[in-house]
Amino acid sequence: MQLYCESLTEYKRLSTREVKIGDLVLGNFHPILVQTMTTTDTMDTMATVEQSIRCIEAGSELIRITAPSKREAENLLNIKNELRRRGYNTPIVADIHFTPNAAEIAARIVEKVRVNPGNYIDKKKFEIIEYSDAEYQEEIDRIRERFTPLIKICKEYGTAMRIGTNHGSLSDRIMSRYGDTPIGMVESAMEFLRIARGENYHQVVLSMKSSNPQVMVHAYRLLVKTMFGEFGECYPLHLGVTEAGDGEDGRIKSSIGIGTLLEDGLGDTIRVSLTEDPELEIPVCKNLVKRYESRQSVRKGSFGAVGSGQSNIKLPYDPFNYQRRETFAVDNIGGKHVPVVIADLSKTEKITIEDLRNIGYNYDGGLDKWNISDTAADYMFTANQQLDFALPGTLKVIMYHKTWLNTSDEEKYFPIFDAEQYLEKNFRGSSRINFIMVDCFSDGYTQPSLPLLFTKLKNDPTAVLCLSSTNKNAMQSIRRMFVELENGEVKNPAIIICDSNDESMDESLIHYSVETGSLLLDGFCDGICLGHHFMKKDIRTDYCLMNSIAFSILQAARTRISKTEYISCPSCGRTLFDLQETTARIRAVTNHLKGVKIAIMGCIVNGPGEMADADFGYVGSGPGRITLYKGKDIVKRNVSSEVAVDELIGLLKENDAWVEP
Ligand code: SF4
Repeated sequence: MQLYCESLTEYKRLSTREVKIGDLVLGNFHPILVQTMTTTDTMDTMATVEQSIRCIEAGSELIRITAPSKREAENLLNIKNELRRRGYNTPIVADIHFTPNAAEIAARIVEKVRVNPGNYIDKKKFEIIEYSDAEYQEEIDRIRERFTPLIKICKEYGTAMRIGTNHGSLSDRIMSRYGDTPIGMVESAMEFLRIARGENYHQVVLSMKSSNPQVMVHAYRLLVKTMFGEFGECYPLHLGVTEAGDGEDGRIKSSIGIGTLLEDGLGDTIRVSLTEDPELEIPVCKNLVKRYESRQSVRKGSFGAVGSGQSNIKLPYDPFNYQRRETFAVDNIGGKHVPVVIADLSKTEKITIEDLRNIGYNYDGGLDKWNISDTAADYMFTANQQLDFALPGTLKVIMYHKTWLNTSDEEKYFPIFDAEQYLEKNFRGSSRINFIMVDCFSDGYTQPSLPLLFTKLKNDPTAVLCLSSTNKNAMQSIRRMFVELENGEVKNPAIIICDSNDESMDESLIHYSVETGSLLLDGFCDGICLGHHFMKKDIRTDYCLMNSIAFSILQAARTRISKTEYISCPSCGRTLFDLQETTARIRAVTNHLKGVKIAIMGCIVNGPGEMADADFGYVGSGPGRITLYKGKDIVKRNVSSEVAVDELIGLLKENDAWVEP
C-alpha cells in the first residue's frame, strides 16, 4: 500500500516544498509555525491592528484577516502599514471566500492569500448536477480562466497562497461527482493546485479542514498520498480542525485532529480554531508544536520517501477510512460496546464515597440512591486499595492481582497484572475479566515473548489488554502493537493507558488527546485510562477534570457520545453577533441534550456551508437577526436575536430532540 507519511514507527517529518511568506519560510523541515485569525471588522483598522498585536505578542507567527469584499481587501494596506509603523513585521494572510476581485487586490498588499476552492469563483447553489466528462472539463477550464490572473499577481508580487478546502463548503461540482468525502476534499484542492503548477507557481500551502477530526485526518493523509502519487512531491500543509468550539472540548477536538497528523510528521503550520479571543488559541498551538521540538526528525536529502522509507510493517488496516478493530467482548469491553473509561484513583490515599462524585457517581444518602451522570466512569483503578462501601451498580473496580486475591467479591473486583505474571504456570485470575498490562516495545518488554503471549490470549475469553508505552514515540509503539495483534489474529479487546508527565493540566490535556485520539481515529482501542505522574495538589479537582477529558476525547473521536456537541465558528470580521456570549447562552440551556449536534455560526455567507454535519444550526443572517436550520434546511428566517434561543428550543422540541433538563 502506498502510505501517507515517512514512518509509521518513529517521528519523521514529511518532506515538503519550501514556501516563502514575507520573511518566513515554511515547509522543507523548517519549524512548524503557529497562526491565528482576527475576529474584528476588517474595516476597523485600529481594532484589527490592536488585536493582531495581542496575537503577535502571544506568539502568532502569521496573522490572518478576513477580506470578504474589495473594500476590506483595500483596507489591508492601512492595517499592514500601521502594524509595520509600530514595528511588527509579522506576515499577513488575507482570507478570501467568494470574490476574485478582493483576492487580486489583497495579493498585491499582503504576504499570503487564502482561497477556498469550494467557493472561490464557484457560487454554491446546493445543486446536484450530473456532469459528463466534457462538461466537467469545461468547468475546470472556466476555473482556470478566473484563477490564473490571481496566480500571475502572486508570482509578480512574491505572494504565497493557501488553497484551503473545507469539508462543509465543497462546490456543487465536487459534491456532484465525489460527494461530501475526503476524496472530494482532496480533489477540490488538486483542481486548483494543478492550475497553479501549470503556471509554474509553487508558493502554495494546502489545508483540508473539517469539524470532524476523523474526516480531517483522512483527508490530509489522502492529500499527501495523492500529491506524491501525481507530482512526486508534496506542498506544505496547514493543519486545523474547523468550528472546533470553545473551552476544553474545542482544545481536545483540535488536539486530536492536528496532533494525529503531527505525530506522523505531517504539518508545517497549525491553527487551533476556538470560539474565544484569537490570542487564546496560541498557547494551545504552542503546546502542540512543543511536543515535537525535542524529537529528532530524520531529514531526507530529497523528497521521494513516502512509502519507500517505511519500516517493514505491513498495515492490516486502512488509514484512509475509519473501521473499528474487530474484537470479541469481555463483559462490557470490546465487541460492539462503546469504549470504556477507566478512572485511575490510585493516588487517592483513602478512597471514599465522596470521591466517586468526581467520576460521575453522586450518592444521595437520604434516598440511599446513586445518581449516575452520562459521563460516569465504567471502571476505577485503585491499585492496592480495598473499598469499605458498596459500589453503584454500573461501576467496577480494577486492582493489583495480589490485593485482588484477598477480595471475596468477584462480581465487582477484577485483577490487573503484567504479561510475565500472566504467562506464569498455575496463575490464578478472575473467571470473568483479567487485565494484562503490556508496555509496548519499551526496553523492559522483550518481544520474543509476544508469540507466547498471543497464543495464550487467543484462547482466553477473559483477557483484556492494557497497552502503554514508555517509548518517546509512544503512540507509534502502541499502534505497532495493534498491528502485531491484527497480524497475529488476536481479537482480545485493548485499553490504552496514557500517563502524563506534564506539569500543567493544559499540557496534559493535549498529551492525552493526541496519544489516545490518534489511536481512536484509526479504529483501535476499546477503552482509555488517563493517569498523571505528578498529580498532587487539588487532587480531587484533577480527577474530575481527567474524567471529563476522557469522555470528551471519546466524543471528539466520535467513538462514544455522552453529551451535546457544539460546532461553533471561531468568528471573524463577518460575524454578526457576539459568538462567545451566544455560544455560552445556548450551551447553558442545551448542554443536557446528549448526542445532539448544534452549530452556532457567525454569518449566513459561510456558516451554513461550514456547519457540516450539525443537526441544528443557529446562524447570524443580519444585525440582530438569526436564521435557524434543521440540517442544511432553513426552518426559520431572520428571527430576532432576542427570541432566537427560545425559538431554537422550540425547534428542538418540534423535532423530538429536546428533553427536560
Ligand atoms: S462562519 Fe464564522 S468564521 Fe466563518 S466567515 Fe462566517 S462569521 Fe467568519
